[in-house]
Amino acid sequence: MEQGALGQVIDALHFAAYKHRYQRRKDVEQTPYINHPIELLRILFEDGGVRDPVVLVSALLHDTVEDTETTLEEIRSRFGADVAAVVEQVTDDKSQPQDVRKQLQIDHAADLSDRAKLVKLADKTANLRNVAQSPPPDWSLERRANYCNWGKRVVDEMRGIHSALEALFDETYEAAYKTCNPQFTLEK
Ligand code: ZN
Repeated sequence: MEQGALGQVIDALHFAAYKHRYQRRKDVEQTPYINHPIELLRILFEDGGVRDPVVLVSALLHDTVEDTETTLEEIRSRFGADVAAVVEQVTDDKSQPQDVRKQLQIDHAADLSDRAKLVKLADKTANLRNVAQSPPPDWSLERRANYCNWGKRVVDEMRGIHSALEALFDETYEAAYKTCNPQFTLEK
């Protein structure tokens, strides 16, 4: 990766860390939110071999507009139109109720750009991994299973984009779904 691209990734990491600074994940340890975008970056770079800086930067920024006070305009002026376009595509419309937003993700997944599909694929993989390893303590097994199945429905609409990352998602889904079985006990 050329130095300019690495600089952009570092800038995006710094920006996302600042924007998410007051947020925590929903797991029992309430881990810092920034761990989540960093996990997407690692999945794309290490597991997927993705080197497109637009995808990597967008992965780091993917939840800033949806979950912080960041605007798309801010993303556009600092990271460019290509990154802003990807972030816009993976940002839910928060004026809609959650069940509508979940259905819209399924309905729109096939129409996303290839770059947005990669970010979303990594996002769903990271989220299902969290459900398997450190689920929100107040989630029932049924809620976890529903969440896994919803993630799979979104990913099923985007197949044919990256075989290695799709295989990783499938593996993660199976492991996560197994933990939703009543016989399963989470190892400490
Ligand atoms: Zn996310």
